[in-house]
Amino acid sequence: MIQIKVLVFNPFQVNTYILYDETGECAIIDPACYETFEEEMLHEFISSNKLKPVLHLYTHCHIDHVLGTNFIYEKYGIKPMTHIDSKVFIQNAKAHGTGFGFNIQELVMPEKWIEDEEVLSFGKQKLKAILTPGHANGSLCYYDEKNEFVVCGDVLFHGGIGRTDLPTGDYETLINSINTKLLTLPDNVVVFPGHGDKSTIGFEKSNNPFLTGM
Ligand SMILES: [Zn+2]
Ligand SMILES: [Zn+2]
Repeated sequence: MIQIKVLVFNPFQVNTYILYDETGECAIIDPACYETFEEEMLHEFISSNKLKPVLHLYTHCHIDHVLGTNFIYEKYGIKPMTHIDSKVFIQNAKAHGTGFGFNIQELVMPEKWIEDEEVLSFGKQKLKAILTPGHANGSLCYYDEKNEFVVCGDVLFHGGIGRTDLPTGDYETLINSINTKLLTLPDNVVVFPGHGDKSTIGFEKSNNPFLTGM
């Protein structure tokens, strides 16, 4: 059975997700740990649950979501994976990070890029990548159809949507991504966003002021 652990990291309070099952294999989505104690917290969770990280995924590559990339790579030997449209963000991460006061090195580059609708596996689980631009180019949501949840980064929040004023952000594109790629999922699908509390597709469809026109 799948288990979902959320750890909240760095001053931007990013949700780092660790998905795992009885096989011990796990997927880390958005490695946001920055401070040493945050890296230790993540590693403590992995080691005390005897987990083996096999997937290292980004929902998108804004600096607050990728700060722990090199830590994950050095500790567990797995390079990050995401959509190729995120490449420029990864290339610029060190400079962006410095602008926000983060002291980071150049990020290790993905070796393999994820295609829209590609299915990724860890343990007995499957995640389908769904390309959802609008908040940032290359944004991917990871949908687990069997277990009825989606990890959606900064595309959709509990009662909100991602900001569109950053480079490659575009309001119409974002609303279109949400309407055509997320709100078409079943209502009971749980939404795990990049910041804040979880929600469901059905709740957001009826209550999210950015989507209902209220
Ligand atoms: Zn973002
Ligand atoms: Zn974010």
